[in-house]
Amino acid sequence: MRNGLDKDLIARVLGAEPKWTIAELEAKFPPRDLPDGAFVTRFAPSPTGFMHIGNLYSMLIDYKLASQSGGVFMLRIEDTDTKREVEGAVDLVKNAIRDFGFKYNNDEIYGPYFQSQRKDIYRSVAAELLARGLAYPCFLTADEMEEIRVKQNAAGFATGIYGEWARDRDLTADEIIAHLDNGEVPTIRLYSTGDPNKRIFCKDAVRGSISFPENNEDLVLIKSNDGLPTYHFAHLCDDHFMRTTHVVRGEEWLPSLPLHYQLFNMMGWTPPIYIHTATLDKIDAETGKQRKMSKRKDPENNLAFFLAGGWPTEALIEYLGNILAPGYEEAKLKGAVKTFWDYEMKPKKIPMSGGLFDMKKLEWWAKEYIGAMPVADLVTAVTNWANEYGTDENKMQVADAKYLSAVLGIERDNPKRVRKDFITWKQTLENVAFFWDKLFVPAIDYEYNRDVLRAFLETYDPADDKDTWWNKIVAIAEKTGIKNGDVAMNLRVALAGRTNTPDLYSIMSVMGGDMVRGRIGRVLNG
Ligand code: GLU
Repeated sequence: MRNGLDKDLIARVLGAEPKWTIAELEAKFPPRDLPDGAFVTRFAPSPTGFMHIGNLYSMLIDYKLASQSGGVFMLRIEDTDTKREVEGAVDLVKNAIRDFGFKYNNDEIYGPYFQSQRKDIYRSVAAELLARGLAYPCFLTADEMEEIRVKQNAAGFATGIYGEWARDRDLTADEIIAHLDNGEVPTIRLYSTGDPNKRIFCKDAVRGSISFPENNEDLVLIKSNDGLPTYHFAHLCDDHFMRTTHVVRGEEWLPSLPLHYQLFNMMGWTPPIYIHTATLDKIDAETGKQRKMSKRKDPENNLAFFLAGGWPTEALIEYLGNILAPGYEEAKLKGAVKTFWDYEMKPKKIPMSGGLFDMKKLEWWAKEYIGAMPVADLVTAVTNWANEYGTDENKMQVADAKYLSAVLGIERDNPKRVRKDFITWKQTLENVAFFWDKLFVPAIDYEYNRDVLRAFLETYDPADDKDTWWNKIVAIAEKTGIKNGDVAMNLRVALAGRTNTPDLYSIMSVMGGDMVRGRIGRVLNG
């Protein structure tokens, strides 16, 4: 440990007096009054203008653990890297949270929730570390650090500011004052007393206890250019004072865990429970091998892809839920639970290595989900999608809600035989496009039996009930000497332009007499 700095020097080093003592902060952000076992989690994105599937995966864990335990799920914006920040990125995050149906509970007491607005808190904690000789002001310039790095590389040492390389770690008060008088603005660095020959034991809720070499790097806690904290220091201050119980984050943070334990230990605070999630993998279409999702190569890595493509967000959640809570699908198929929200997720069962994301599997979940939807909800979902993302044709399809509801209502009245041919809102509209004359594409190479079509028109009455209608088809079959099914097929292709459709009688009823006559007439006159 080094000598602590006195109050005046701390204020000069930090550029302002610390606003609170640690005791005051503890009182300002009291432990939460929650039932035993309640999880307090947070989604903590950096606003970089992009929400990827890993964000959703991690947020789903956060939200599920908090909601199933009667806890709290927060949204914290980690906007400390002003260079990487993108305009509108916060709205993008909030819209994604809304679109996927999550709700966060940012209780004012524990705010603010933008890290850029928490400078007073970071400064107050840094002041404590400076006073106790656990942190120090460092005046190394970028050029000087680069020189150090080059020397370290040449000599085969690990790079970084540590031990002897940390030029300023033992500056006296007078030396610090001389730098400050010279107009230099310091970074605040950790005064690390860790010894990499010793090991520190850290816990991950899924991986269990993991030991790492102790950290000996004097890592930056507060940056000189903007007075904002690094991720590490913000994590310490925020997750302590927001009373986070469980930190769910990507496994790329695992190597920083010894540092985070070191920081919590220095402050005498209990670290949160960590859950480091594995990245999601996919099977590469070209090589057939499992690999990480890539921002550059895989459009499905971006959440916007699913929204624009009209994937039911609930299906994506169901599918991701099944990846992170193995056993859910089985429970659902058995009828023990209806949705992922009813299924109890166990943190220990979260996969530790590459969960596999497969669009084909997602299709299965999507078909199941849409198949079970009441038609009114399906109409709303398809309409909302078309109005936000659809083409002019899609918008035309949803303009008449009554007609759309009749179209989408076909074969949805028998819960035992649910339709499984709708996958996305977009594909649903494509699938039923033949119900609109403007979008209907006739089958060009089908060999119609024109006698059958003519005979149908002769006796067709749109007011017929299903039995009467069917008896007429049977009569036509007898008269023309072909099978009932072939009669129906001729009609089906004339009406829908394809051989595979749901119930033909329902199609005719929804289309109405004029459209049916028009379509058949078109074949006969064509
Ligand atoms: N802002 C960090 C990230 O996006 C958050 C990690 C965490 O959840 O602690 O990776």
